[in-house]
Amino acid sequence: MRGWVSPRRPPRRRGRGRRAKSRHRPRPRAEGAGLVCAGRSPGCRGRTLRLLLPFKAQASRLHGAAGSLPLRMAAFGMLACLALLGVETLNSVRARAEQLQKAEASVTSLARALVQHADDMLSLADVMLVSLVETARSEGLQLPALGRLNLLLERRATMLQRGLRFSIHGPDGALLATSHPGADAGPAERDEFLHQGAAGGGVAYLGLPVRDRASGAWMLTLSRRIEGPDGSLAGVAVATIETAHFVAHYAWLGLGPQSTVALFRDDGTVLVRHPPRDDLIGRRRLRQDILQSGKDGPEKPDRYISPIDGVKRIGAFHRAENHPILLVVSLSVENVLTGWRNDLAKRAMITGGLILLLAFLGVRLTRSALERHRVAQALAESEASFRSLAENSSDVAMRVDMQCIIRYVSPGIQPWLGWQPQQIAGQFMPNLVAAEDRGTMQATLLRMVSEGLPPTRHTLRLHRRDGALVWAELALHPMRDPRTGRPDGAVIVARDIGEHKAREAQLHRLASTDGLTGLANRRAFDETLEREWRRMVRGDGALSLLLLDVDRFKPFNDRHGHPQGDCCLKAVADALSTLARRPADLAARYGGEEMVLLLPDTDSAGAARMAEAARAAIEGLQWPHEDNTPFRVVTVSIGVATASHGSGLMAAEQLVKAADGALYHAKRNGRNRIVLAEALAERPALPAGGMEDWPPPTRAGQPGQPERG
Ligand code: GH3
Ligand code: MG
Ligand code: MG
Repeated sequence: MRGWVSPRRPPRRRGRGRRAKSRHRPRPRAEGAGLVCAGRSPGCRGRTLRLLLPFKAQASRLHGAAGSLPLRMAAFGMLACLALLGVETLNSVRARAEQLQKAEASVTSLARALVQHADDMLSLADVMLVSLVETARSEGLQLPALGRLNLLLERRATMLQRGLRFSIHGPDGALLATSHPGADAGPAERDEFLHQGAAGGGVAYLGLPVRDRASGAWMLTLSRRIEGPDGSLAGVAVATIETAHFVAHYAWLGLGPQSTVALFRDDGTVLVRHPPRDDLIGRRRLRQDILQSGKDGPEKPDRYISPIDGVKRIGAFHRAENHPILLVVSLSVENVLTGWRNDLAKRAMITGGLILLLAFLGVRLTRSALERHRVAQALAESEASFRSLAENSSDVAMRVDMQCIIRYVSPGIQPWLGWQPQQIAGQFMPNLVAAEDRGTMQATLLRMVSEGLPPTRHTLRLHRRDGALVWAELALHPMRDPRTGRPDGAVIVARDIGEHKAREAQLHRLASTDGLTGLANRRAFDETLEREWRRMVRGDGALSLLLLDVDRFKPFNDRHGHPQGDCCLKAVADALSTLARRPADLAARYGGEEMVLLLPDTDSAGAARMAEAARAAIEGLQWPHEDNTPFRVVTVSIGVATASHGSGLMAAEQLVKAADGALYHAKRNGRNRIVLAEALAERPALPAGGMEDWPPPTRAGQPGQPERG
């Protein structure tokens, strides 16, 4: 690996402790190398997609799955609610039907049992009547037989105690004997007598209900004819039964407020009714279809709406075997279904609660699924644009995680830096940066991924795979987790600015080069002088300056012309630049036919040697110059100055000035020579008039020998 750490080796970080080191351990291979490729083949696309997994796979998965999920969830929730509702409805309908069936069964058996009860009561009364009739016939209806009959009736009545009363009436209806002396049903003018008077035979007659005159209570009457020895009507034995006895019995059953039990005579006359309705007693109110129905066997229960009170009922009737009565039991459908309704209400509440709960959960889940779907869609869209941008841009996009490990790099890295994306993925990003440029950028990136610093830009050099360093501009953007808003790594967009840098360098070169001689120009010299001066001041070396001036160049131009003069200057510059061998040495054109050689870390002796070498080299060109007597070739005069700690020179300008002063002396002393400024400094101070008034040196320096005053 040239120029950069091996992509497989964990990057080392300094100054952040053990914890920082462990955080930068490379990811397992499955997450890094091998997951991407730089090419743009279809297969590569698949692999690139896999590299994007950390921030895109979730989105894709969510996007695909969540697309129809909210709809499916809503549909499922509705189906669940409907199913629950359906099952509950079916159960309720079935329970209602069962309840009604039970009611029908019970109403039938109830009618049978109750009519049997009434029949038995009448039979009991009739047995008594038969006994009475026999007694009356055998003993007669005159005193004292009547007294015995009275006694007998009273005893039987106390024995029976079922609301039964017995009485014996004469043919005119007069009361002859009674079991209840205080009571008087007063049937004398009623149809019993008419009937018993007209009818004969040994059949008991069930009369119309009558009211007791004393108590006002309704009574059933059963009577038998008492015949005299000649077969004529001698009297009537009557049994009366209080209807209250039946009503109490029916009430005891607790059939419900709107259920009824009614005992009818077979001509449809109401004998007893529970609940009591005085206005109906004694009236013919039996339905025609029941009246006309068969006399044998129990009838099927049926449902009907009562013509009397408009209540819907389930009714069944049954005829008695021994007496002309029938009994109708009608249960109010309302009452029958009360239990079912209560149960239904409870179940409806539970089901409703469940449905509400399901709906609430469904809405919550659907909403959250929709939100997830929306986020996933946004994520997928942003990922698609990111990928499209990353893969089609000449810039290289990278995604680093919170440990600055590269999780994704776009394929553009390969043609630029030569690294395959899979070689880069999984590496500590700052390691891609040249060591000299890494510091600030690494510190910024580490803070960005952990603290979310705002975007920054860095111009620096990156390692190419072949070991070269290339200039790049890095734009660092912090990333945040969309759900928590916390820093979540960074995106780095790297741009190749190599060409830009090269153009910049070229421009700089042009701006700092003299067009004629190819030496550094005055501006570059000034900058370098300043820089080297500061370096000299910081260190403990010396800085020397040679200031050269072509001797009698004006006459040269005059004689040979300017173009020839330019050529001459170029030759002098070339000779000078060959002397500037050390990297820090700088040969520059100072102006006109004056040139300089700046020699960092060169003391005065070294500078003198360099000056003499320059002078000799230029004289050695043997460029003809007839007017430069006595040399007759092109020569230069050189002023040399050296600055160092203790030299007394306080600024770069003073160095130039000193060299210039020395040059002046070189000219004054005959040209084609060098003069050291330090030699001048040892002399008395300059007079106020300046150099022009400076007396010539007592011993002119010979060519090749620096003048030392
Ligand atoms: P000395 O320096 O020896 O005292 O005499 P000199 O003739 O060189 O004097 P001076 O410095 O006055 O003249 C400088 C001459 O250099 C003037 C000008 O014609 C010539 N010169 C300056 N720059 C250029 C240039 O770029 N090309 C050419 N051909 N001549 C130049
Ligand atoms: Mg000059
Ligand atoms: Mg000159």
